[in-house]
Amino acid sequence: MAFEGLSERLQSVMRKLRGKGKVTEADLKEAMREVRLALLEADVNFKVVKSFIDRVKERAIGQEVLKSLTPGQQVIKVVNEELTALMGGEQSKLVQSANPPTKIMMVGLQGAGKTTTSGKLVRYLQKQNRRALLVAADVYRPAAIRQLEILGADLNTPVFSLGDKEDPVVIAQRGVAKAKEENLDYVIIDTAGRLHVDQEMMDELKRIREQVEPDEILLVVDAMTGQDAVNVAETFHSELGLTGVVLTKLDGDTRGGAALSVKAVTQCPIKFVGLGEKTDALEPFYPDRMASRILG
Ligand code: GDP
Repeated sequence: MAFEGLSERLQSVMRKLRGKGKVTEADLKEAMREVRLALLEADVNFKVVKSFIDRVKERAIGQEVLKSLTPGQQVIKVVNEELTALMGGEQSKLVQSANPPTKIMMVGLQGAGKTTTSGKLVRYLQKQNRRALLVAADVYRPAAIRQLEILGADLNTPVFSLGDKEDPVVIAQRGVAKAKEENLDYVIIDTAGRLHVDQEMMDELKRIREQVEPDEILLVVDAMTGQDAVNVAETFHSELGLTGVVLTKLDGDTRGGAALSVKAVTQCPIKFVGLGEKTDALEPFYPDRMASRILG
């Protein structure tokens, strides 16, 4: 699971604080210095780290935390609350349109896990008795359509495709119409990614967005790429106006920098995390649970 390094280091700082009957301002400063280093080593964006530490210090000193009966515990509580706030505070749920099908557009760079996540979402929705249509709008990556068809067959879920010669905008539109015809609850459009952000890809995504008017535009990013993932999220958000981020491969991410920075940097919430290759390895993202997991 993610955050091993960060978690270990923060827990050791917190243990020291908890053990103290009295916490001086110097103790707090020293603890915050260690927290700061731990966050930087976890590849959290440095501006995010700075404002996080400032807030914790301000609250810990300002609210007479240090003079309380259990100062160590109180500081830990503040750190926990601020970590939760950093990751978005409240859980940000998947939208459900009042006028089905709810249209979800999946975007992201190649290899981030877009197609896999589309399948995972179908599985997630199935568990809530909701049915989806998968739409194969990635006509550039040779195996993408086939990959989606295999996923669909595994999940007992229809896949809409017009092959790789048709305009992705047309595929997306016709896919949505098909989902409506079939009275499905969701339509999940798997769009094309590239190795790097490029204008042609963005223009195509914008055209799809304009025609389809999705309820959700979910960016799929690879947590293991750390601050690169955050930069990618920033770019996609400013170009497309994302409604949420899915952070994949958190199972392999020992640092956790992306999970801790995405919301603070982009203002865009993480809605789900991917924790493995299988279709059931997707979880809604709960900032409070994640903070508690990190602090142990
Ligand atoms: P796309 O190009 O964005 O559509 O990426 P794919 O969906 O084809 O995924 C690329 C690779 O990442 C595949 O080998 C997936 O099995 C793998 N993958 C996707 N999500 C996760 C995840 O959450 N954890 C792990 N470990 N692997 C993942």
